[in-house]
Amino acid sequence: MSVVGAVVDESTKLSAVVGARSAGPLAKARDLHTVGDLLEFWPRRYLEHTSDLSNLHVGMYVVVVAEVKSATTRRMQKRKGEMLNVTITDGRDEVDLTFFKSWGHKDALVPGVTALFAGEVGMYRGRWQLTHPAYQVLEGGLGPHGADRGPIPVYLQVKGMQNWSVAECVRIVLDHLEVDSVPEPLPATLRSRHGLPGRLDALKGIHVPRDFAQVQRARHRLRYEEAFVFQSLLAQRRARQAAERTRARRPREGGLLEAFDARLPFELTAGQRTVGETLAQEMSRDVPMHRLLQGEVGSGKTVIALRAMLAAVDAGGQAALLAPTEVLAAQHHRSITAMLGDLAEGGMLGGSEIGTRVALLTGSQPTQARRQNLLDAASGDAGIVIGTHALIQEHVQFQDLALVVVDEQHRFGVEQRDALRGKGNQPPHVLVMTATPIPRTVTMTVFGDMETSTLTELPKGRSPIATHVVPADRPAWVQRTWERIAEEVRSGRQAYVVCPRIGDDGPPTAGSADDEELAAPEPGEGDEAAPHEMPSVYAVEALLRENPALDGLTIAVLHGRLAPEDKDAVMAAFTRGEVDVLVSTTVIEVGVDVPNATVMVVMDAERFGVSQLHQLRGRVGRGRHAGLCLLMTASEAETARERLDAVAGTTDGFELARLDLELRGTGDVLSARQSGGGRSSRGMGRGSFRFLSLVRDEDVILQARDDATALVAADPDLAEHPDLQAAVRSWVDEEQAAFLERG
Ligand code: ADP
Ligand code: MG
Repeated sequence: MSVVGAVVDESTKLSAVVGARSAGPLAKARDLHTVGDLLEFWPRRYLEHTSDLSNLHVGMYVVVVAEVKSATTRRMQKRKGEMLNVTITDGRDEVDLTFFKSWGHKDALVPGVTALFAGEVGMYRGRWQLTHPAYQVLEGGLGPHGADRGPIPVYLQVKGMQNWSVAECVRIVLDHLEVDSVPEPLPATLRSRHGLPGRLDALKGIHVPRDFAQVQRARHRLRYEEAFVFQSLLAQRRARQAAERTRARRPREGGLLEAFDARLPFELTAGQRTVGETLAQEMSRDVPMHRLLQGEVGSGKTVIALRAMLAAVDAGGQAALLAPTEVLAAQHHRSITAMLGDLAEGGMLGGSEIGTRVALLTGSQPTQARRQNLLDAASGDAGIVIGTHALIQEHVQFQDLALVVVDEQHRFGVEQRDALRGKGNQPPHVLVMTATPIPRTVTMTVFGDMETSTLTELPKGRSPIATHVVPADRPAWVQRTWERIAEEVRSGRQAYVVCPRIGDDGPPTAGSADDEELAAPEPGEGDEAAPHEMPSVYAVEALLRENPALDGLTIAVLHGRLAPEDKDAVMAAFTRGEVDVLVSTTVIEVGVDVPNATVMVVMDAERFGVSQLHQLRGRVGRGRHAGLCLLMTASEAETARERLDAVAGTTDGFELARLDLELRGTGDVLSARQSGGGRSSRGMGRGSFRFLSLVRDEDVILQARDDATALVAADPDLAEHPDLQAAVRSWVDEEQAAFLERG
């Protein structure tokens, strides 16, 4: 059945150890191909070796482990054949089993045998009974009366195999492994300091435990290992970054930044000032900055970024602002040129003498304008270049790129940063901004190679946002919703209506549809079967045009399939107040800033994630007037209502992010549309771990981070820790493979 003589390690093919008959189903059903794969297939739960038989009731389906106390056969009077009566016990209570045919069971269920029984509980003559239960005799190292009986592992179902066969395969694999063939990424000092079992012991503790305490210790060890390997990788990256050199960009007196500050129409918040100082300091060092700035929607990140960009220009360099969508890039360009005034008219008649130029690069620009902008970037005439990530990464050459600001794109990984490196003579300083509140465990892992700043306060004079859930199946409530919109518009405000899809009746696809703009429906758990059609932008637009309550209002649509110039035109008109109601997809999810917009209606709100809804509603209540967000839903699913109530109940983005993390895992917090677990998904999210939970394991991560930082400081190349080095490298390989796959 197995290779004899050959060394078995975690990379050995399963078929060589457990045979093709078992290897086939394991590969097919669960994608398990190697010894290591199978060992990472953790039991979903464990059964106590002796179950409790005291809490039964008629009709209950039980799965229990019990010992056969007695077994008797009896000839039946009316029928041919022999009947088998077995009594099983947990040591206290008893249940009778009845088999109307003894054949096949009589030899298996003899007194003293322990087995797993499954069946429906009945009552006969005052005694509990299972009629023809399914059962599995438990053998293999199980002595009588619980000598070395541990919890029984129950695996996720493997099609074509019984649970006990899977367990048997795992046991065979473990029997073939030796301490020497199992790598040990954890240094002995750390293991003894934290009282952690060795890797092979831990694997045994997971799959063939003596008791639950051993399972706990084993899980802890393997989670710590996973955290530690990843933190070692991050510590190496941080060390490498600290050794990098770039040009220091020191502030200059009498420059753009001073002139800009002097004309700022508002006072910076304390938080904005502190972060500004941090950025100035880090940029004036010759080590490239890698900083993540998180701040609630509306906390004023753009001003911070702009001030840093101006400092870069003052220091003789250029800055690039990367937006996730063309709509956002255009909006940044509009608001930044407006804020700068004549400071953005460098070299032009009437422009400031110290002024620079702000170039916008979009896919839809006329060739002439585009060529000029590319030229300005290359010559350095444009101190600030704004565009989408793709555009800037692919097409632009800079004279001297000093600073890259990445807006609303928290998934801006090492790979993208590396791509930007090639743009300058030295690596640029990098500032990544996000309005998605990120729980600490995520900043310590996914962003573990960056420093983090957080803006906690909102600028003064911000109005609160009230959020309510509106049942879509109550016509009076729905009508009231549209009337609220009309009321806001009549008092001079504007409104958003957000829909989960565009609709087929729109104009044909044009231009580059930004990924984010194609509203992907996000079905919540348990409510997949949508009872009605998803409201589309065009359907809702038509509905609103027909509604007498909205008579005379200007309605426009915005979504990712519009041609880029149309998107810009619609957004510009909405910004100028020429459009009253904007019916759109989630294009407006991030960064769109129209302070006069005060009300937002989200159609089929249950289809959006908790954090996403929080982002969306951040579009209203940005000015002097109170914001109102109405979450419309027809879903009756409990989980959906719970999530929407949570959004309505708090405006604390961190709390909602935590909830998202709990409900949906890291993937969605990071807005990766990744599918469930398994090996291949790990690299995807740079933070989807096999065993580690970002919700539960904060302590483990903190500890691993400290330990790894110390270890890497002492042994930067991990030369003295080859197994750890190999584990780190294999993580990097997977990450890179996933990155390439994503394109
Ligand atoms: P976000 O952090 O969501 O990107 P923005 O940078 O778009 O927020 O800022 C939201 C609005 O608040 C903008 O109109 C901006 O001009 C304004 N703003 C920023 N800082 C302040 C401040 N300190 N006082 C008053 N308004 C501010
Ligand atoms: Mg912003």
